[in-house]
Order: sequence, then C-alpha cells, then structure tokens
Amino acid sequence: MTRAGDRPSARRVPLVAANWKMHLLRRDVEDFARVLGAGLGAPRAEVVIFPSHPLLAPAAQALAAAAPGAALGGQDLHPEPKGAFTGDVSGAQLRDAGCTWVLCGHSERRRDHAENDELVGNKVAAAVRSGLAPLLCVGERREERHAGETLAVLERQLAAGLASRPQRFAVAYEPVWAIGTGETATPEIAQEAHAFLREQLVGRYGIETAERTRIVYGGSVTPENAAALREEADIDGFLVGGASLDVGKFLAIIRVCGSA
Ligand code: PEP
Repeated sequence: MTRAGDRPSARRVPLVAANWKMHLLRRDVEDFARVLGAGLGAPRAEVVIFPSHPLLAPAAQALAAAAPGAALGGQDLHPEPKGAFTGDVSGAQLRDAGCTWVLCGHSERRRDHAENDELVGNKVAAAVRSGLAPLLCVGERREERHAGETLAVLERQLAAGLASRPQRFAVAYEPVWAIGTGETATPEIAQEAHAFLREQLVGRYGIETAERTRIVYGGSVTPENAAALREEADIDGFLVGGASLDVGKFLAIIRVCGSA
C-alpha cells in the first residue's frame, strides 16, 4: 500500500481558523475585521473566522467590508435541515448568514453537549448537504493519551466523522489536554498524530485526496509556538482559540503560515 510518508512532500494551502467560542460582542467585530483586513494583504493562507451564532451577521458584514479575504463559519449545526429544535441552528441558516464552513465535533461540544461520534458524523453529513465545508475536530483526552489510546481514539473519531464520505472537508487535531490550558503539544507529538490521520485518510480516500486534505493543529497555539509546529510536514495550519481573540496575535499566526 502507498503510505503517506512515501510521497514527495506537498505543501497544501494552509488553513488558519479563529474559534471565538462564546466570546466578543457586536462592537468588537468591526475593529477586528478592520485590523485583520489591513494586516492580511494577500495571504497564502485560507483564513476562517468562527464566531458565536449571534455574531455571524455582523461578522459577515464587517468581513465583507474590511477583510473580504477571510471566510466565515459556524461553531455548530443541527443534523436535521429544519424543525422543532429550540436553540439549534441548521446548515441552511448558517449558509444564509454567510458561512462557508462549520466546526463539527469540537471537544467542548463533545464534553458539554454529550455529542458522540455518531452525532458528529451526522453533523458532518448535514454540513455537506447544506453546502458547507466541515472542519472535523478530533483529539484524545489526557487520560486516553496516558492509557496509550491516542491513535485508537483518533481512528474512531475520524472514521465516524467521515462516515458519510464528505469530499470537501478539513480535519483539526485538537488534543483535549492542550485546549485552553497553555500546554501545547510538542511539534513531534502533533506531527505523529497528523501523520497518523493522513494515513487514515489514505486508507479511506486514496493518496490524492489525503494529500489535498488540510489537517490543522489546535491547542494553545500562540505566535510563539506556531512556527515550530508549522515546520512539521503534516501540519497544514491552525485552529486557534484564545489567541484568536487578539487580532494582532491571530495575524502573527497567519503570517507564520503564509510565509511557509
Ligand atoms: C479551540 O478551542 O479550538 C482551541 C484550540 O482553543 P485554544 O487555542 O484556546 O487552546
């Protein structure tokens, strides 16, 4: 079988995404977009902002005006296209609000909303049906790493997340123990996981699709640690939480990718 490691190294267009989680207000969005747009220039990276749902409309407007190079994504969607699901949003509503991306299976949703692998897979399928590109988040918890289960967890989450065989998607490797903790995975740890995920993609989709697919790293990424992570062959960008709330730091992380 062709292994991803056997291929000539190919550099994919990096993907750098901001996960704002439940932060910021309408008044913050315009300034963020203005500074982002001024600093972006013509980045070699694809940039996506994931605001909370009430901020999608103002963010769409602000990005279109000041940072048209940046795309917009939702942080979650319901697997059904519409219906009596109070508090949820559909893929069509995200599209209508200007989104082209959506996060699926973020560990905070798995943890706080009991999202299991099957539900995450259904959300990925719903995203694709709505014309959205899912950014599928996978990652092991600290106790799973200590128990030597990391690769098994990644294999399981990836297989379930991609059960519908989406064609346009990206994967975020986000070790749960590194999210919001200030404890970043070392480049070696992250690369091992990314290379494993790419091998899994080769098995599922073949080498060409696996080569094209961006696998980004998330977990306490900062301008300081991004460069070393980006050196690794299979790290194609970042999903940034805390540091993305500071547009200067977010731009610095984009530059690490854009100049690579
Ligand atoms: C995240 O929430 O996806 C994330 C990576 O957060 P942080 O950068 O704050 O660890």
